[in-house]
Amino acid sequence: MQITVIGLGRFGSALAETLIERGHEVIVIDKDERLVQKFVGKTDTAIVADATDDTVLRSIGVQDMDVVVVAIGDDVEASVLVCISLMELGAKNIIAKAEDERHARILGRIGVDRIIQPEKESALHLADLISYPTISDRFNISEEHAIVEIKAPKSFIGRRIRDLELRRKYNVLIVGIRRKEPVFDDEGNIVDLKEKFIAPPDPDEEITDGDVLVLLTPTEMVEEIARWE
Ligand code: ATP
Repeated sequence: MQITVIGLGRFGSALAETLIERGHEVIVIDKDERLVQKFVGKTDTAIVADATDDTVLRSIGVQDMDVVVVAIGDDVEASVLVCISLMELGAKNIIAKAEDERHARILGRIGVDRIIQPEKESALHLADLISYPTISDRFNISEEHAIVEIKAPKSFIGRRIRDLELRRKYNVLIVGIRRKEPVFDDEGNIVDLKEKFIAPPDPDEEITDGDVLVLLTPTEMVEEIARWE
């Protein structure tokens, strides 16, 4: 994909580096030359410029990019001006980082496609993981639904998915199972453990000790799931 990242603070730099590593064609822009220098040699197009000047945005052809990320936080005015210019130039898929709620509201008003608040989002995620220690990961897919990962509770081990009746009792679905399976050598000795992801599992699948269950659950059930033993 062709992606432009504007603003190379900690967030913008980490994002641009990761996208480059993943093989995307990335253009980076920052007004601070030292930050742009770090990308010379990593990407063909590393530009030192003030992105509020729309001639630079025009010259790189932002309308042809698959995604444009505006990772300017502190300077709300610059962030808003850049987003407006991008929209006027016909850029699709604008993702902008907001410093706080007010900044996020303004970006929403002008019609930015996606607004992110990385510090807030990662703090909420961490708060969830700290509050529910038996849940190893959680992803909220809507206001009402989440995907959570838990180590299979002891009371589930040796039982078939259908017999647990999670759907009927709690409206919870097991959508995947992470299972470590032994790898044997020619003499039948276990030499390694390999993770297998079973998705979607068969209703007749039996839960084994050490399984990690991936659940699709109503958000209101998460607290209860965290107490399953
Ligand atoms: P982080 O938390 O990711 O480190 P931040 O949210 O504090 O960053 P800022 O420091 O405000 O964000 O901005 C990130 C980068 O955006 C900075 O490197 C800054 O030089 C650059 N930047 C700010 N305004 C402009 C602009 N008008 N044109 C180009 N780059 C800009």
